[in-house]
Amino acid sequence: MSDLKSAVHEAPLQFVDPRRFKANSQVSVDDPHLRRSFRSAMDFLQAKRGAHFGEAATFEPLRRLGEAIRKYSLSRLPDLLEQLEARLVERGVQVHWARDAAEANAIFLAIAQAHQAKAMIKGKSMVSEEIELNHRMAEDGVACLESDMGEYIVQLAGERPSHIIMPAIHKTKQQIGQLFAEHIADTGYTEDVDALIAIGRKVLRAEFRDTPIGVSGVNFMVAETGSLVLVENEGNGRMCTTVPGVHIAITGIEKVVERFEHVLPLYSLLTRSATGQAITTYLNVITGPRRAGELDGPKEVHLVLLDNGRSQAYRDATLRATLQCIRCGACMNHCPVYARIGGLAYGTTYPGPIGSIISPHLMGLDPTQDLPTASSLCGACTEVCPVGIPITDLLTTLRHAAKHEALPGHAPLVGQGSAADWREAWAWKAWAWLNTHPTLYRIAMRLGRHVRGVTPAWQGGWTAHRTPMRLAARGLRDRLAAVDKG
Ligand code: SF4
Repeated sequence: MSDLKSAVHEAPLQFVDPRRFKANSQVSVDDPHLRRSFRSAMDFLQAKRGAHFGEAATFEPLRRLGEAIRKYSLSRLPDLLEQLEARLVERGVQVHWARDAAEANAIFLAIAQAHQAKAMIKGKSMVSEEIELNHRMAEDGVACLESDMGEYIVQLAGERPSHIIMPAIHKTKQQIGQLFAEHIADTGYTEDVDALIAIGRKVLRAEFRDTPIGVSGVNFMVAETGSLVLVENEGNGRMCTTVPGVHIAITGIEKVVERFEHVLPLYSLLTRSATGQAITTYLNVITGPRRAGELDGPKEVHLVLLDNGRSQAYRDATLRATLQCIRCGACMNHCPVYARIGGLAYGTTYPGPIGSIISPHLMGLDPTQDLPTASSLCGACTEVCPVGIPITDLLTTLRHAAKHEALPGHAPLVGQGSAADWREAWAWKAWAWLNTHPTLYRIAMRLGRHVRGVTPAWQGGWTAHRTPMRLAARGLRDRLAAVDKG
């Protein structure tokens, strides 16, 4: 095994617990370097997108088309998945279905063991992050080496990606120079960006040649042709899917569309929304392993289709919109909360607004109940989402689901009601009752004003960041009455 793969084996992944989201956020907010780097990165990405979509007249028709394609695809999801599987099998692709992360990892391990492989080289795949592939494979002695430059950097640091498009956006060039000097043999410290890229490229190129299994994500799957479409800029995705003898692709079940013509508008929305590019450098379309007479390409192609909570979102008419997502990251780039705390504080694979609406399905509402509350509901995410996901509506739906049991006739979400607090529930009930009894309401307000001087200064979580709530000396009704008299 190469030195690099040994280093990857040894780099322990630092897990961040989403249950500690509030505390993690405080740490991020208190870090001026992190805030500065995220702010400038988000400004940059916003400007890049704005250059394409500054005018609503340019954006809206394409967005409506993208939304319609995603909704149509989801409305036919079971049929399209069956059609996709049949086409892929015809083309020689081995299709595997995984209910959860454990099943997906078992499939990867079985393929590695069948080939006696001790290493895999990976293109960028957020779904592989979702199942913690690198970490789980390392437990069984299989090294997974990231080949996307950003992913490679966070892997060397033992971290998770902090952005779904730009995984190492939180790292400075000085930190990257330090990491390379520590982990890559015969490499001195440099903070020259071109030199750093050249170092990474040289190391990874040799690994593509020597590693038996390549792993990739998938951006879109086409049911009618049995094609896997992969969007990327670095060329590492193409290397991972063509150089090693075995290619394993992994993606969520929602990524399927019916026809190839459906891919093009989504591709256009994806690249412009994500990085402000009209097209990416590479668009890979994979339709099976190497055929007789062909000189290159993998001899074996596998596709792992992961559910991992997606069917929970699918069965709810409102929450199904979550699955329209094409993972462009625009909602993150425009979110005032994400821009201040960055991605690592969330402790989930997908941070920012998309993370707040998808993570409760992937992990359950219990550990993720605070995420949907990390929004001022300003609507910036909804405004820029290229496939029309009503993100703010989904955030409020999940907030409600975290605090209340499911309504009769509705299937509960995993962890539904885990944030319920009987004191809060009773306080709201009492408040509702008082507001529907005007005489008692007026008496209560009058009494309250008499004792407003002794309002407690500490009012639980409310006063952690706000001044205490206190009744006004004169109520609105009295003020309006005074105006009328005047
Ligand atoms: S929710 Fe919309 S804006 Fe956010 S990543 Fe998904 S498609 Fe992009």
